[in-house]
Amino acid sequence: ATFCQGPAQQIALQAVEETGSTNADLLAAIDRLNAPTLLVAERQTAGRGRAGRAWHSQAGASLTFSLAWKFALPVHALVGLPLAIGVAIADALAMFDVKVQLKWPNDVLHEGRKLAGILIETAAVAPREGSWAVIGVGLNMAVDAALAATIGRPVADIPWLTELDRDMLMATLLNKLADTLVQFEQTGFAGFAPRWNALHAYSGQTVMILDNGRVLHEGVAAGVDATGRLMLDTAAGPVAVMAGDVSLRVA
Ligand code: ATP
Repeated sequence: ATFCQGPAQQIALQAVEETGSTNADLLAAIDRLNAPTLLVAERQTAGRGRAGRAWHSQAGASLTFSLAWKFALPVHALVGLPLAIGVAIADALAMFDVKVQLKWPNDVLHEGRKLAGILIETAAVAPREGSWAVIGVGLNMAVDAALAATIGRPVADIPWLTELDRDMLMATLLNKLADTLVQFEQTGFAGFAPRWNALHAYSGQTVMILDNGRVLHEGVAAGVDATGRLMLDTAAGPVAVMAGDVSLRVA
C-alpha cells in the first residue's frame, strides 16, 4: 500500500487487478484497518448493489472502488451518507463537464439513466466508539453490448467518458469524497441537502416508493429534508420516507 495526504488524514491506497467485490474485501478486513483505505479493482467479478442485487461492470472500462472510512458517529447517524456521496460524485464529475442528476436514495443518473451506483455498508466499532462505513462506487466509463445485455435495462453510456484519464477521475473523486466525509462528520447530511435538491432528478414528478416490489407510497416528490428523508405529497397528505432498502420508480 502507498499513502497519500488526504485533507484531514492519510488514506491508504490499494489497487488490485481482479476481485469479487471491493466492498466485501474491505468489510472482511475492517478490524485490521488502521487508516481510511481506498481499494480500486481493475475488474470486479461479483459487484454488489443493495438488497443482494448485482452491480455489473466492464473489465478495464468501469471505475469500481470502495473507500473504508471511520466515523466517530454511530451507525444510525449515517443514514443520509449515500445522498451526500451522490453530491460528491456529481461535483467531481462536473469538473469533467459531465452533468448528472441524483435519484433518491443512492443513484447517479445521466439523462435519466444510471451512470453510477453507490452502496454503503456499515459496521459498528464498539458501543459508543463510532462506526466504519464502506462506500462502494461503480461508474460506467463504457458499456459494450455484452454489459448492456447483462444489465438488461437502459443505462447511461457517455461515449467520450472512455477518453477521460481514469487516474485523474479517480483522484478527483477521492479528493471530493474525502472532503465530503470530513464535512459529513461535522454537519451530517444537513449541509448537503440544498445541493442534493438542486440535483434531484424527479423534483415535482409523481413517484412510487417500493419495498420488495410492494408499493409503500405514491406521491409528488418534493425533495429531501435535512436528514435525507424524501418528502412526498400524497393523496393522504405529506409523507417523509426514510432511506433504507426501499426503491423509487417514476409512477
Ligand atoms: P433501482 O436502480 O432499480 O432503483 P437500486 O437503486 O435499489 O434499484 P442498486 O441496488 O443500487 O439498485 O443497484 C443494483 C441495480 O443496478 C441492479 O439491479 C441493476 O438493475 C442495475 N445495474 C447493475 N449494474 C449496472 C451498471 N453497470 N450500470 C447501471 N445499472 C446497473
